[in-house]
Amino acid sequence: MTSVGTLSKADQSRVNLLGLTLPQMEQFFLDIGEKRFRAQQMLKWIHHAGVIDINEMTNLGKVLREKLQDLCVVQPPEIVTQEDSVDGTRKWAIRVGGGGLVEAVLIPEANRATLCVSSQVGCGLDCSFCSTGKQGFQRDLSAAEIIGQLWLAVKSYDGFQAGDKRVVTNVVMMGMGEPLLNFDNVVSSMELMMEDLAYGISKRKVTLSTSGVVPALDKLAGVSEVSLAVSLHAANNALRDELMPINRRYPIEMLLDSARNYINAQRDSKRVVTVEYTLIAGINDQVEHARELAELLQDFPCKINLIPFNTFNGSEYRRPSGNAVSRFWQVLIDAGYNVTVRTTRGDDINAACGQLVGQVVDKTRRSERHRLATETLIGKTG
Ligand code: SAH
Ligand code: SF4
Repeated sequence: MTSVGTLSKADQSRVNLLGLTLPQMEQFFLDIGEKRFRAQQMLKWIHHAGVIDINEMTNLGKVLREKLQDLCVVQPPEIVTQEDSVDGTRKWAIRVGGGGLVEAVLIPEANRATLCVSSQVGCGLDCSFCSTGKQGFQRDLSAAEIIGQLWLAVKSYDGFQAGDKRVVTNVVMMGMGEPLLNFDNVVSSMELMMEDLAYGISKRKVTLSTSGVVPALDKLAGVSEVSLAVSLHAANNALRDELMPINRRYPIEMLLDSARNYINAQRDSKRVVTVEYTLIAGINDQVEHARELAELLQDFPCKINLIPFNTFNGSEYRRPSGNAVSRFWQVLIDAGYNVTVRTTRGDDINAACGQLVGQVVDKTRRSERHRLATETLIGKTG
């Protein structure tokens, strides 16, 4: 594989074609005095064939290839570590420009494979139950760094052998970061996920999850048709204020209105919002919380996804017992909701929801300690 190391100084001044949508790619070729159809060829090389060395793009002609090498790069982010769970889940720690680390997780199942993608390094929204939130915000990922996670996953999964067939069937923007706070780059990369000349994933199978950045969600309704998941986690504002500081700005009623408008703006009428509800023992997992949730969501077009809290270092929250989860679930079922409980995958490699990056940081610190210890040792013996 061609080196995918961090960009050298010379590369930094060149456009990275990896993150360009079809219209952006067409504009790029027109701007450099080339034909529009070159954009389609370039997208297929990158996203169907997995080729990032411009020299290998044989149908572009030698003169054009040389010109492109002066002007642009096709540069995925760099994999730092890859871990495989006994259940088939695969997790990557990925280094992005500026030294930040993010994680992506691929979850293969019988008839599908879902990739969980990050949108920011860290997150500034500080939800009390989230390990990414504890990191604080570091920076937005570029569109190339977001779509690059899908590129790397397909590369790792089958080396792009399947061409334009779908290897990754579903993408969820549920990794690190709040996708709606990195609006343009997230929208561009989701377009590429759905673009037939790239990954061709259906709009229903690309899901954006948000904690509720209402103005950005209102804006999304006009520009995107992806599926929507809303992180609710509490059915009253007092509790949600405590768990998710963003609720103080955009309370539950505003969020549900905005989510409803998003669904109503879609052309196909059968779509619903996925309401995510992380169950935390003794905090929001009691039967009365379930009843309150059932009441709140009456007439709201949704299905409910319960996520038993995933623990991480430094958090005092606990996961509820299986019984508590069942009791909560039963109340919602009895009220007529479509409810699923998210099974935890990749537990042995800390790849579950909300566990991302805290662990990477731990590990980086550990390996840094290891390196220092090793150097000290070498220093002593050498
Ligand atoms: N920022 C977006 C998307 C990333 S978080 C959002 O908040 O929706 C993806 C999902 O994981 C969210 O529903 C989030 O609330 C949930 N989550 C975060 N930390 C968790 C934890 N420790 N255990 C279980 N779910 C968690
Ligand atoms: Fe950010 Fe989502 Fe974590 Fe909240 S749950 S801190 S919005 S990543």
